[in-house]
Amino acid sequence: MRAIGLVKPCEVTRGIVYVDSMLGWLSRWLRMIGVMTIYRDDFSDDELAGLGGLVITRDRGLFNRRRGDTLLLLTDNHVHWLVASLMVLNVKPIIGDNSLCPVCGGRLIKVDSRNAAGEVPVNVIKRNPTLLKCESCGKYYWVGSHHRGIGRTLNMVNELISKCSIKHNGSECLVSCLTL
Ligand SMILES: [Zn+2]
Repeated sequence: MRAIGLVKPCEVTRGIVYVDSMLGWLSRWLRMIGVMTIYRDDFSDDELAGLGGLVITRDRGLFNRRRGDTLLLLTDNHVHWLVASLMVLNVKPIIGDNSLCPVCGGRLIKVDSRNAAGEVPVNVIKRNPTLLKCESCGKYYWVGSHHRGIGRTLNMVNELISKCSIKHNGSECLVSCLTL
């Protein structure tokens, strides 16, 4: 077994997730999966220490300082970050209708692709009658070749989750996995 995360308390309250600086990759994936995630690369330790909601960090000192829900990631592996976070949040690695904008976390709405003329390539408009548009930052999304890469990562995450477990370790819980 290899530990990839340490969480306190074992049962986290679902709510807003705050992601520590250096974990921007994780914030984009959590948003795509539909988890409301706040990420800034300039959160101070004092700010993060006092926040309600779940704070995800790689900083052991911050983990020790915090009273509220906190997940400490114990690995450099990005995919394992996502595995540990989704297990703690009890969320499946699926991108569905509640997907949020990976860039800003805004809500995505379906729009007629013709409204995006001039803002996305012409062949994208031809191939997709509808696009997704972020209500907050205005960015457009569509199913492209990168989606296959996203699917592969989500499958990998799904398989890893089946090999990992959350076990009590005093007042904290350890997220560990069989073969990594
Ligand atoms: Zn956005």
